[in-house]
Amino acid sequence: MSQIIDGKAIATKLRADCSERARALIERGITPKLDVIIVGDDPASHQYVNSRASDCRAIGMDSTVHTLPEQTEQVELIELIERLNADSSVHGILLQIPLPKHMDSDEVISHISWDKDVDGFHLMNVGALVSGRAAIAPCTPSSIMELIKSTGVQIAGKNAVVVGRSNVVGRPAAMMLLHENATVTICHSRTADLAAHTKNADILVAAVGVPHLVKGDMIKPGAVVIDAGINRRDGKTVGDVEFETVKEVAGYITPVPGGVGPVTRTILLMNTLEAAERIHGRK
Ligand code: NDP
Repeated sequence: MSQIIDGKAIATKLRADCSERARALIERGITPKLDVIIVGDDPASHQYVNSRASDCRAIGMDSTVHTLPEQTEQVELIELIERLNADSSVHGILLQIPLPKHMDSDEVISHISWDKDVDGFHLMNVGALVSGRAAIAPCTPSSIMELIKSTGVQIAGKNAVVVGRSNVVGRPAAMMLLHENATVTICHSRTADLAAHTKNADILVAAVGVPHLVKGDMIKPGAVVIDAGINRRDGKTVGDVEFETVKEVAGYITPVPGGVGPVTRTILLMNTLEAAERIHGRK
């Protein structure tokens, strides 16, 4: 029977540290600020960005949401980004993706100043992460690492299996596990025998987007299982891991909701504080 990794409790603790860091900056006359850009009027995306802005305000940081209409030209969006890059009161820029179809996300992201890229998607930050240098790392993989570390299980020397290889979650999570000296296997939609790999995992990360893909009979007894999946099924939010069967075998498991999600939200605050501290120098 697993211990449940309580993402909400971990997030609450991390947020207390964030408040302290924000306060220390404010005492120096620097109000850490995250600016969020959203193009179009998708209600779920608006809810997402507004909640990120209110997370900032809740710990004393500042945040402005810039809303652009769906038909905005790419060049106008890039102009806004360049204005925010040049604005010394802005420390982090979050661009809500996906962008409308007439825009090229990679091109737009490349215009965000890498030291304000709190999503860690700029190629400079991607390259720094791959080469093991200090980088602003993407939020969900950083959250996955926090959750693994919260168990106290040593990562070095362990077999870590990451299911999913997206640039947003799976691939950077695998890199971070490699930097912590795990032996890392990355599985994806073309992996021939998924269970053969997952059964060998001391640490298993699921970042797939397929509800309940990973089941109890695919787990090594005692494994740490981190479920990044967010899927809707029968009106409920469920993960990529079949919680009820996996919790009987794993040593530790994250629930969905209440696992990766709340910590990911907090990492965005941490990345913005990190950016502010870097820009203004640490004390
Ligand atoms: P993507 O769709 O970009 O990537 C999914 C990955 O899973 C791909 O690498 C794909 O392989 C692989 N895959 C798909 N089907 C299978 C399968 N049957 N067996 C093995 N691998 C498979 O998704 P994301 O990485 O963006 O997101 C993954 C999940 O994480 C989603 O549920 C998403 O909602 C959630 N998410 C959660 C966040 C959080 O903060 N908790 C944040 C971001 C995402 P291939 O490369 O071959 O196509």
